Amino acid sequence: MEPDILITDTLLLPDPGRNTLLPTGCVAIRKGTITYAGPMNNYGSQRAKHTINGRGMLTMPGLVNLHGHAPMTLFRGLADDLELTDWLGNHIFPAEANHVNPEMVYWCSTLAAAEMILSGTTTTADGYFFETEVARAFADAGLRAVAAQGIIDFPAPGVPDPKNNIEAAASFINEWQGKNPLIKPALFAHSPYTCSNATLQKAKQLAREYNVQLYIHVAETEHEISIIQESLGRTPIQHLHALGILDTETICVHCVWADHDDMDILAGQGSPVILCPQSNLKLASGMADLPAMLAHEVSAGLGTDGCASNNSLDMFREMDVCAKVQKLHKLDPVAIPAKTILAMATTDGASISGFPGHAGVLLPGQPADIILIDLQQSHLTPLYTPDLLVYAASGADVRTVIIDGRLVLEQGGLLTININKTLDRVRTMALAVQ
Ligand SMILES: [Zn+2]
Repeated sequence: MEPDILITDTLLLPDPGRNTLLPTGCVAIRKGTITYAGPMNNYGSQRAKHTINGRGMLTMPGLVNLHGHAPMTLFRGLADDLELTDWLGNHIFPAEANHVNPEMVYWCSTLAAAEMILSGTTTTADGYFFETEVARAFADAGLRAVAAQGIIDFPAPGVPDPKNNIEAAASFINEWQGKNPLIKPALFAHSPYTCSNATLQKAKQLAREYNVQLYIHVAETEHEISIIQESLGRTPIQHLHALGILDTETICVHCVWADHDDMDILAGQGSPVILCPQSNLKLASGMADLPAMLAHEVSAGLGTDGCASNNSLDMFREMDVCAKVQKLHKLDPVAIPAKTILAMATTDGASISGFPGHAGVLLPGQPADIILIDLQQSHLTPLYTPDLLVYAASGADVRTVIIDGRLVLEQGGLLTININKTLDRVRTMALAVQ
């Protein structure tokens, strides 16, 4: 059968975690699925409806950004260089109370989707309020996304009475479950210090009832450890475990202060961890011990976190920082190899995201989530190994992006997002913020 898209004559990186480059490769895509990925001379002569000349390009699986708060693009650069509780309590929460509404969420999420697609992210996991507007923005952009409705025991955008937070989350899941194959609804409980035990348990019960993931910020700061320790006599991760919340569908974000006992719990329950190193660096929260987590067989993915605490959604930057900061943290240049970071941002991340059959590799039968990187550039020359993608590439090197077999970025041009209209809308909203 004739492929819809054929990428020809490209340097192929089919499985970034295994780090093997294949020169003169080609990839065929039909009905959203990869039908061939391998040497061009084994492909034959079948033509496609659309051919992409991959010469001078590296073709690899799209990146997976597993933690973000897309609408927070509006707050990019609004309150930098502050301590976490001051940043949240005196700047971010008040800005959210005044400026978050469905229209803001839609346009600022569209801006986030543009930034992610332009920098090679094809799958993301998001958690916020008015999440239905995030989901709608991502669906319109053609981005693959886990969209998680926020749950917190304070008045929140769209949920003025926290007594209704579980009900609001249930109606979000009802609205999106089974609606669009690229959008997977989920829940996002803000943290163990902003959600009561009852809220956490109800959220998990709802997640189990609907078979959706539950994301939660946990063990992010030393302060969080001390307040949970003082009130409950255990670590935040022990606390979640005692509440019966940890399992393979509970995704623990940050875990900066997870100790070895916590890592045993996470590994035993199969709960994945998402590291957000740039957010942790900027807020000086500390640094998760990734080598120890991997030694405990905790599965780990990578995320940028929201724009206000990073301030970028570029996963190439995140990979670079993650690899280097772990080396510094351990004072050991071999602590984490680049290919482990590449795997976290592709294959491991895809598996944690939980889309059925999505393994983050370029193999027949896989969903066609593919990016092409321009190698005709000084900073990417020479290219001996894919490690260079971690240590020298940037999101701006991405030229073409395909998600689920659909071209969303071609030769640097966004095909699903009106970028000028989006920039105008967000700039206009920003005038009211300052
Ligand atoms: Zn976050």
